[in-house]
Amino acid sequence: MKLHITVLPGDGVGPEVTREALRVLRTVLDLHGCDASFEEHLIGGAAIRQFGAPLPEATAHACIESRAVLLGAVGGPEFDSLPAGQRPESGLLALRQALGGYANLRPAIAYRAIADCSPLRPEIIKGADVLIVRELLGGIYFAEPRGFESGSRPGAYNTMRYSEVEIERVTHVAFQQAQKRHRKVTSVDKANVLETSQLWRKTVTRVGCDYPEVKLEHMYVDSCAMRLITHPGSFDVILTENLFGDILSDEAAAISGSLGMLASATIGGKVDLYEPVHGSAPDIAGRGIANPLGAIASAAMLLRHSAGLEQGARDIEDAIREVLDAGHRTADLSSQHPNSGRAGDPGQRGRARRVVSTAEMGALVESAVADVTDRRRAYHAV
Ligand code: NAD
Repeated sequence: MKLHITVLPGDGVGPEVTREALRVLRTVLDLHGCDASFEEHLIGGAAIRQFGAPLPEATAHACIESRAVLLGAVGGPEFDSLPAGQRPESGLLALRQALGGYANLRPAIAYRAIADCSPLRPEIIKGADVLIVRELLGGIYFAEPRGFESGSRPGAYNTMRYSEVEIERVTHVAFQQAQKRHRKVTSVDKANVLETSQLWRKTVTRVGCDYPEVKLEHMYVDSCAMRLITHPGSFDVILTENLFGDILSDEAAAISGSLGMLASATIGGKVDLYEPVHGSAPDIAGRGIANPLGAIASAAMLLRHSAGLEQGARDIEDAIREVLDAGHRTADLSSQHPNSGRAGDPGQRGRARRVVSTAEMGALVESAVADVTDRRRAYHAV
């Protein structure tokens, strides 16, 4: 079946990193003989400039009609004075809602070669490879009633609410991911205080019985927040609700060392959405120095979740590792960090580092992924 992908480069560094993600994606699809088509559309500030709306009808329609959407980033200072509903970010929020993905997947990987970029000590993050599965459409961000109270004692309130169905469907996603990884799910809640968390724990435990080969542990969110920075290597898949996931996934980003490294996938809805975690980075846009590895890793997630090409995804992830191991760094990974000069990984000591542009980094990964694939095929051929 032909894989139809809508590409939304967006604003700022979005087009720069998306170009490199597409370059690697096309190469891997070719290597696997996969028939794919790509259609590019405007979103965010670029769409406001041309059509006066952050999510034009044509863009929304193309996304809904495709198998997957690959997005760069949206936003920029020139749009900051617009009312909230007309800003570039509102186009992305509307798109996410239209696509209907309820499971947000964010990996946080400690790459050995750039361990010194993390604010955490290299020996703490060593080997860490966490996948956070965050419920995205429920919980306190969406439930009613919500609002402000006026009168003699002004206040404000929100409602945290979950149905069993909402918990069940995201739990299945987490267990299915764990089956393909290290077969462990840590479900995070606050069941000692919140009724929603008690339902969460009960439902996750019940669904977990369908996956006897996956180990399930429950952890309170405060304890998890602590453990993520003291023992990140002890996690495989973290499953949690919307608010806790929002906070924990940003905290886990410290493991990877740079915002530019982080990938994400939003799955479970009509169409799956893949995007790097970072924004449009207006401070570095147009200079060719943005790190495209988060966007490239998002393309790897697309292969895994929307194209059924697990091996292609792994080849990209191995290629990223090899390029970093060889000493290539975009500017964000090369600047002096408080951890620079620490012992780091002994295998990396004395290795020459070369600062490369966004396009050079894309080309290096593209070439490495072809090598990785050739080597793997040659190994299996003997
Ligand atoms: P940002 O993620 O754009 O940038 C934060 C910092 O990280 C900046 O110093 C930037 O230079 C750096 N950075 C980001 N991506 C990088 C990359 N690939 N390589 C190297 N360095 C990188 O966040 P911000 O500055 O808070 O927001 C800028 C704009 O992006 C705003 O308009 C915001 O609304 C928007 N935004 C969009 C998204 C999205 O599209 N998903 C997410 C966050 C922010």
